[in-house]
Amino acid sequence: MADELGSGGLNRREFSRRMLALGAGGAFLPPAMMKWSGAAGSGGPDQVPSSPLRVNAERFLRSFNGLDEFGGTPDGGAHRPAYSEADREARGYVLELMRAAGLETRVDAAGNLLGRRDGTEAGQAPIMFGSHIDSVLRGGRYDGPVGSIAAVEVAHTLADHGVATRHPVEVVVFQNEEGGLYGSRMMNGEFSRDELTIEAASGYSIKEGTRLIGGDPDRLEMAVRRPGEVAAFLELHIEQGSVLYDRGLDVGVVEGIVGIRWWDVEVTGFANHAGTTPMDARQDALLAAARYVEAVNRIVRGRPGTHVGTVGRIDAEPGAPNVIPGRVTASLELRDLSMDTIAELHEEIRAAARQIGAETGTEFSFELTVDLDPAPVDDEVQEVVAASAQAMELTTLRMPSGAGHDAQSMARIAPIGMIFVPSVGGVSHSPEEYTRDEDMVNGANVLLGSVLALDTELD
Ligand SMILES: [Zn+2]
Repeated sequence: MADELGSGGLNRREFSRRMLALGAGGAFLPPAMMKWSGAAGSGGPDQVPSSPLRVNAERFLRSFNGLDEFGGTPDGGAHRPAYSEADREARGYVLELMRAAGLETRVDAAGNLLGRRDGTEAGQAPIMFGSHIDSVLRGGRYDGPVGSIAAVEVAHTLADHGVATRHPVEVVVFQNEEGGLYGSRMMNGEFSRDELTIEAASGYSIKEGTRLIGGDPDRLEMAVRRPGEVAAFLELHIEQGSVLYDRGLDVGVVEGIVGIRWWDVEVTGFANHAGTTPMDARQDALLAAARYVEAVNRIVRGRPGTHVGTVGRIDAEPGAPNVIPGRVTASLELRDLSMDTIAELHEEIRAAARQIGAETGTEFSFELTVDLDPAPVDDEVQEVVAASAQAMELTTLRMPSGAGHDAQSMARIAPIGMIFVPSVGGVSHSPEEYTRDEDMVNGANVLLGSVLALDTELD
C-alpha cells in the first residue's frame, strides 16, 4: 500500500514544506477562499493565512452531544450495542446529520452508513473517512462517535464553504465495530459467512442484526470494495490509553495498529495431598504459574519499546484448598507493531518458563490461538496527518494503536491514516471515558486538513 501511494504524486518533503508554510487545508482552497493576514505577517510571498478552513466547532459539538439521546446513560456513558434499539435510532440520527451536510446517503449491503459528496474529476476513487457509533455494553460516549460525527462535520464544512474536491469524499459509519470489526471486514471482503450465526452483544445474530439495520446478509458481496476502489481511508478516534494525556500532547499520529498473538499456556505438575506432601517434594503447577506471570511482566518491561504483554487468565485444577494444584491453564497475550519483537519476546518467555519448570518439577506448553498481523499506516498519510496538525500548531506524537480499529480492515484495501486525540486518564470502554471538547475539535480540524491535503496530493 505504501507503494501505491508512493508512486503517486506525493513528494513528501515538498508537501510538508507547503503544509507548514501555508497551514493545513487553507493551502489548497481556491484563491477566493483564502484570507491572508496582512499587517500582522511578515508580508511578501511567505505571509501566512490567518484563517485556513476550520470545522464549525459549535455545530460539531452539538451534533456529538445529540447522540446521547440514543443510548446515553445517566452516568455520562453510552449503552449502544450493535443492532440494539439505541444503535438503530442513533444510525437514523447520523443519517439525518449526513443529509443536512449535503451528503447523498445510503446503507450498503453490510449495513454500513455511507454519505457521499461528488468530486470534480471523473473516475477518481473516493477519499473515505469515518468510524463507528456502536458501543460496548455500558461503555463510553467517545469511542467511535468522535470520529463518526467529526467525519460528517468535515463534509458539512466542505459544503458550507463550497469547497470542490478532486476526489469524491465518502463518510462512513461502520456497523458493529465493537463486536469484531464486522462492517469494515464485510467491506474489505475478509468476513466469512460462517460468522453470520455469531450472536452479538445485543442478542441478535450477525445475520439478523445486519438485516435489522438495513443491510442484506445474502448479498454481502455488494458491499465489498477492492484495492484501488478507495483512494485513502482516515479515522479519527480517541486514544483509549493515557500516553497523549500524560504527556500533555494534542494529537497522536498513528504509525500502525499492533499485531496481536494469544497463547493458551498449560502448566503440568502433580496434584497431591496438601497435608502430607513435604514442601520440598511438590510439583506445584500454580506456584510455577505465579513465577511465570512475574517473568512475563519482567521480560516485557525489560526491553525498551511500546510493546505490551499480559497474562489475563489463570485457572488452577483441581482448585481445592487442600490439594496441591496439578494443572494450570493460563494465557499469554503479546502486542506490538513488529511481529519480530513479538516472536523474540515469546522465545524469551518460553526460555524463562523452561527454567521455572526445571526448578519446580513442572512442564509448560504454549499453544498459539490468535495470530493477527499488524496493520501498517501508510508513511505518506502519516506525514499528511502530522503536517496538518503541526500547521495548526498542535503538538504531535507518532504512536502505535494498541487497540483494534476499523482502519485496520481498511488497510487491506487502501492506504490508511489514523488520528488520535487524548483520553483523559486513559480510561475507555467505561462510562468514565472522557475526551475534552477542544481535543475533539482539534481532531476534527486535523481530519479536515488531512482530507484536503490528500485530495491535492493523491493521484
Ligand atoms: Zn472504537
